[in-house]
Amino acid sequence: MKKLIIADTEIEANSNITLDLKLPKLYHSPMKLPIRIIRGRKDGPTIFVSAAIHGDELNGIEIIRRLRKLTILKKLKGTLILIPIVNTYGVTTLSRYMPDRRDLNRSFPGSKKGSLASRIAKIFFDEIVTKCDFGIDLHTASIHKSNLPQVRTDLNNPFTYNLAKAFEAPVVLHSELRDGSLREEAQNKGIPVLLYEAGEALRFDEKSIRIGLKGIVNVLRETQMLPNTTKRKKFSLPIIARTSQWIRSTESGIIRTIKGLGETVKEDEVIAYVDEPLDDMSYEIKAAFDGIIIGKSEIPLIQEGDAIFHIAKFKNLETAENKIEYFHEDAIVDNEFSELGKEEII
Ligand SMILES: [Zn+2]
Repeated sequence: MKKLIIADTEIEANSNITLDLKLPKLYHSPMKLPIRIIRGRKDGPTIFVSAAIHGDELNGIEIIRRLRKLTILKKLKGTLILIPIVNTYGVTTLSRYMPDRRDLNRSFPGSKKGSLASRIAKIFFDEIVTKCDFGIDLHTASIHKSNLPQVRTDLNNPFTYNLAKAFEAPVVLHSELRDGSLREEAQNKGIPVLLYEAGEALRFDEKSIRIGLKGIVNVLRETQMLPNTTKRKKFSLPIIARTSQWIRSTESGIIRTIKGLGETVKEDEVIAYVDEPLDDMSYEIKAAFDGIIIGKSEIPLIQEGDAIFHIAKFKNLETAENKIEYFHEDAIVDNEFSELGKEEII
């Protein structure tokens, strides 16, 4: 089995341990980054699953808590590294950012002599990411917005494209790499990363959590790190979208949305109205193209120019509707996990 050393500790086969990475102190208070490493008896890929790199995006923390408790992990081949809270500083202040007001997910690969965010990025990148074959990074929408569960990755990379489909989130969205993001820098080193984006900041969303948990198990099965159940049906294809766009408000006022997450929209269809409290005028907000709503603002007041709906371009709307319906039902019934025992997902 390939030698694996993290935080000066050699990780043996068949181990399940928590380790702390040492981080820069917060004034006098020592800070650490706790990680769980689960290593199977048999060799296989090494993967990381990380959450809360943005400190106010919490769904992934709960996904990792439930993932760690799955008894099926006893059959794991290879190594799973779980990091439920990457931005330990941001989580304590319920903030997306680091104490130096930087975005940790724009600070990779980091540097030993750089800003605080850059130093944390460096520790995380060197100690964990570079030792993995691939990773899954868990996010939610940014504050005051919500996302339909979706996987974002580079669709031009056949390996990640296949894993993104196997995840079985309702939507797979092609996404360009962003400068300094964990995904970009990992990819530059030949370590592909899937992003799972679901729900809203500072909230737990049960459906997003269940789809995320199941998605990670699906990916572990697809890569043969977990056995494939004979009962597992060939995965139902998600909606694949190559492009998406935010629709912005043309007026300021009170927003009345007509369409919600997961709903399909046609070009020129009215999706919201903007009203004035002292005026009878109502302004229409229309969809700019055919597609499906994958993100939306949750604030009832809107200023001109504010982003309201995130729409993924998708031409065959009837197919999209059917697929979304399937996912709505599936996320709740969740047959596969009920087989494993209810305590596994609570
Ligand atoms: Zn995020």
